Amino acid sequence: MHCFDFEAVVVFDENGNGEIYCNECVPDRTDIENGENVHPIFCDSELDCYPTCSVCGKIHDYVSLTPQGYQHEMEAYFDKLCNEYDTDKFMTPYLYYGEYVECVNEYYETFYFPTDILSKEEIEKEGYEIEQTHNGYYIRASANGYLDCNDWEPIDSFDDLLDWFDSNYEPLEEE
Ligand SMILES: [Zn+2]
Repeated sequence: MHCFDFEAVVVFDENGNGEIYCNECVPDRTDIENGENVHPIFCDSELDCYPTCSVCGKIHDYVSLTPQGYQHEMEAYFDKLCNEYDTDKFMTPYLYYGEYVECVNEYYETFYFPTDILSKEEIEKEGYEIEQTHNGYYIRASANGYLDCNDWEPIDSFDDLLDWFDSNYEPLEEE
C-alpha cells in the first residue's frame, strides 16, 4: 500500500460533523475523489483508534496507531477475545503492560518475568540470567485464589494475542 492509498474516508455534513465510511459504503452522490466535504484517511495516518465504518461496522486497521492508540486497541482486542474464547474455566487470562525481562535458566530455556513483581536481583538470585529488558504487553493465565498459573509470555502484536488464546483456550461456539 502506498502512503496516499486509503480504504476509508470521513464525510462532513453542513454542520461540520464527520462520519467514517469505507470507500464502498459512502452515501450516494458523495464524490470521494474530489468532494470538498470528503477527507480520505490515508494509510500513513497515525490515529488513537482504528476508524470504524458507520454503515457496515468494518474496522480499518490499515492505518498506524499512536502508542496510546495501540494500547487502547490491544486492550479492546483482549476483551473481545475473552468473550470469544471459553475463558470462564479454571484459568483466567491476565494481560499486563510494563517492563519485563527475557532471561534463560541453566538449560538455556527462555522465560519472561515482569520486573514489578520480581526485581532483577531476585530473578538472578533464582538462577536466571537476564538477556534483555523489554517494555510492552505480556500475558499469562492464572487461577484465582490459587498459586496455579502458566508462564508469562510477551505479546508484541494483535496476532500474538490471537495465537496465545488459540493455544490456551477453546473458541466458543457461535450462537
Ligand atoms: Zn463500510
